[in-house]
Amino acid sequence: MNAEIINIGNELLLGDTLNTNAQYLSQKLTELAIQVNYHTTVSDDEEKLLQLLNISQQRSDIIILTGGLGPTPDDLTKETLTKFLNKKLILHHPTLNKIKKYFQKIKFQMPSVNKKQAYFPENSIILENQNGTAPGCIIEEQNRIFVVLPGPPRELIPMFENVINFLKKKIKGPRLYVRQLKCLGLGESAIAEKIKKFLNLTNPYIATYAKQDCILIKIMYRSESEKKALPAINSFKKKIKKILGNIVFTDDDKNIEDVVAELLISKNETIAIAESCTGGLVTSKLVNYPGISKVLVEAVVVYSNISKIRRLGVKEKTIIKHGAVSKQTAKEMALGIKNTASADIGISITGIAGPAGGSKTKPVGLVYFGLAIQNKVFTYKYIFNGNRQTIRQRAALTILNILRLHLLEAN
Ligand code: ATP
Repeated sequence: MNAEIINIGNELLLGDTLNTNAQYLSQKLTELAIQVNYHTTVSDDEEKLLQLLNISQQRSDIIILTGGLGPTPDDLTKETLTKFLNKKLILHHPTLNKIKKYFQKIKFQMPSVNKKQAYFPENSIILENQNGTAPGCIIEEQNRIFVVLPGPPRELIPMFENVINFLKKKIKGPRLYVRQLKCLGLGESAIAEKIKKFLNLTNPYIATYAKQDCILIKIMYRSESEKKALPAINSFKKKIKKILGNIVFTDDDKNIEDVVAELLISKNETIAIAESCTGGLVTSKLVNYPGISKVLVEAVVVYSNISKIRRLGVKEKTIIKHGAVSKQTAKEMALGIKNTASADIGISITGIAGPAGGSKTKPVGLVYFGLAIQNKVFTYKYIFNGNRQTIRQRAALTILNILRLHLLEAN
């Protein structure tokens, strides 16, 4: 079975809204082993949508439309599809009652235009909307499946779970089972080189992707059943982990901060953080983890030289002699935060995020990290590419990964 996605909305074409629905739907359809052949974005224009539906009907088994389910006259997806299919629009009374109740609950008189949202092409399967007033629908017509979904992702995503159940019953033949490994500490090409013998297989199909927060290795296995697929996937996971070792930080959906937080908590190691160029990013990531308060003692942003000196006890002469961005300063920062916060571990980050401030000897992207643990202080020097945000993001991920490796070593 193949599918295509039609995203409707002027704001998508104007560049005001990023089309995340297309990405989400493609991922989900791929997991169902439904091949997505086309993404098309079209304006809120009946004529253009009719033209597009005409083409889509000839080339796709499943046509998913998103957006344009609102109550205003420019929301015309259901109306246009009904016209295209030569059907009637029928008032669905249970939906109208739900919309009325929704407005009663928020103590608002239902605007008459909202009645429009209770009309559907005849013979539709109605998809309830848990997070808004616009229900979606499924229409089966001449061996084609049309799925109509609202634009806002927080409405579309829960609604699509029901569509998945519907599509599962329709799919014949094998499905695609997808699992992943997440890596940090080596670039995508270096990882691909190490595991290249797996990258030209067809089943499982294994591929690497450079994501913002890790290098992702996806293992995609086509099989008739989960029972057959999972042992096969697990055996490949094991083989890849054996080659990559500690570079793999998780084989599920966790982020690096989740893994680090879990290690800190399980080892009962407290931590304090001194950030300069990352401006709190490392702390902010760790604080995403519920329960981090068990181990995170204190975090400070010591952006200026005077703050590094006053708050952490970095020696003025160290900064004068070596600079704020130096191995020596990073070392004193890590020790200073560990001691003054009375934590088991102190980490520090000091670097040049740019765009200004670089020199021949200290280029933009240069970052030093310090890690004080037990009676030792380790320092690390990295040079990151990219703009200010990328450098800060990479620096934050790098120190979290360094910390993870130290915590694993301490086993
Ligand atoms: P509403 O009832 O909110 O009007 P709707 O189904 O009519 O819902 P649209 O008006 O097309 O949806 O879009 C509403 C909002 O949903 C947009 O302003 C945008 O923020 C978000 N949205 C729409 N389409 C997409 C998309 N493809 N990807 C991500 N967000 C989207």
